[in-house]
Amino acid sequence: MEAVRKSSSVSNNGVVSKLPLYRSAPPLEVRLEDFELYAIDRLRVLKGISDGLSRGKKPDEMAKLVLDLWKTNMKNQHSSEVVNKDIISHFVLRLVYCRTEELRKWFLSMETTLFRYRFRVETTEVQRALMAEFDLPYKAVSNAEYESVKDKLNQVMRAIGQSTTTDAIFYKVPFEEVPELVAGRKVFIQKGNAYIAMNQVVSLVITQFRSHLSKALVLTNRKWTSMIREQEKDRLAPIIEALSTSYLGPDYSQPREHAEISLKDIDQIAKSSFPLCMRHLFQKLREDHHLKHGGRMQLGLFLKGVGLKLDDALAFWRAEFSRKVGAERFDKEYAYGIRHNYGKEGKRTDYTPYSCQKIISSAPGVGDHHGCPYRHFSEENLRAALTRMGVGSRPLEDVMDKVRNRHYQLACTLTFEAVHGSSCDAGVNHPNQYYNDSQRILESKKSSSNP
Ligand code: SF4
Repeated sequence: MEAVRKSSSVSNNGVVSKLPLYRSAPPLEVRLEDFELYAIDRLRVLKGISDGLSRGKKPDEMAKLVLDLWKTNMKNQHSSEVVNKDIISHFVLRLVYCRTEELRKWFLSMETTLFRYRFRVETTEVQRALMAEFDLPYKAVSNAEYESVKDKLNQVMRAIGQSTTTDAIFYKVPFEEVPELVAGRKVFIQKGNAYIAMNQVVSLVITQFRSHLSKALVLTNRKWTSMIREQEKDRLAPIIEALSTSYLGPDYSQPREHAEISLKDIDQIAKSSFPLCMRHLFQKLREDHHLKHGGRMQLGLFLKGVGLKLDDALAFWRAEFSRKVGAERFDKEYAYGIRHNYGKEGKRTDYTPYSCQKIISSAPGVGDHHGCPYRHFSEENLRAALTRMGVGSRPLEDVMDKVRNRHYQLACTLTFEAVHGSSCDAGVNHPNQYYNDSQRILESKKSSSNP
């Protein structure tokens, strides 16, 4: 741990901080199981932050969100373990997210946001100690200098709604090191130097944090490609490679309690509660009486998670396919795949319905109907499909805006909210979660209208 901070939790002026700067990897032994579990917990925090940012949350909402996510996911029974978990999980995710430019960019942005809000809630003493650990060459402005610029400083502070006290501490730094403060006209600048109040120091520290982490990610990537990937090909590499696309939500292979569906209701339920990806597959199956393998898997496993029993599933697929290929060919060529999904053939594994992440990253070819419409449809087709779902013109533009920025799950969340007239704070992460949440809302609407 020593390399990360000058001591595990006490800085050179004796101030205790729980916020590491992650300067270099800790010489800690980690059980393989913790290696993965810690990383998954941190990933939940970073994904929650990413969601909050893409939803356009304001700084004070983000501050609350970040601290709540941290508290929920990074707690540990033993307080000494909290710091270890923090450091280990950060370094594991560095390995996971160093591997492509896009992954590095995402990780850098989420870790910087996390650090920013954690730094802001530290005491002034801890913040000063952390600045010292960064070896920032800045000294607090002397009394004499403060007196000479006091009026100007007060003017700026008043303009941004802050007051200064006689014992306020200011730092003098080259203005290009605090671009966000300069852009927001939140500092007094004189002869190329910006005068930073203690509560603005976060900006200075963030610039340092981001630049250290950005360089470290490039170096980690070099080590990964030249050495680690080969050395760890049977042990860590498969875990690392799976982590960046891992689905972190619940398992939907079993339906909700008492949530079986019967064939006679399926069309109605598809219309009211299926997400767009499944509505599209369902509709294509009804129209063409056929779906290719990718579509059969995506829809078939979803229907299993929704509560369609194996016998009903066989009857449902047989009724459609036999119109196209005949009942005999269905029984010979396709029934096996359906029983297989329910764990009744082959290795007898009970297969899990696909998550959004898996569906979004699939690559449907010509004639395929699987995939995520927000990612794989043309703009024109998507607009038409959303209009058919009953999304009004204002929310439709919001959805399209998220699609343009490649926030497909968020686009689906906004669709859910527009169609159900109810918010979905957790966001859509899984088609079966969409379905379950939809059913819950519809059931509660039904029971409140029939008390
Ligand atoms: Fe389906 Fe998920 Fe895409 Fe929504 S975001 S359409 S649930 S894959």
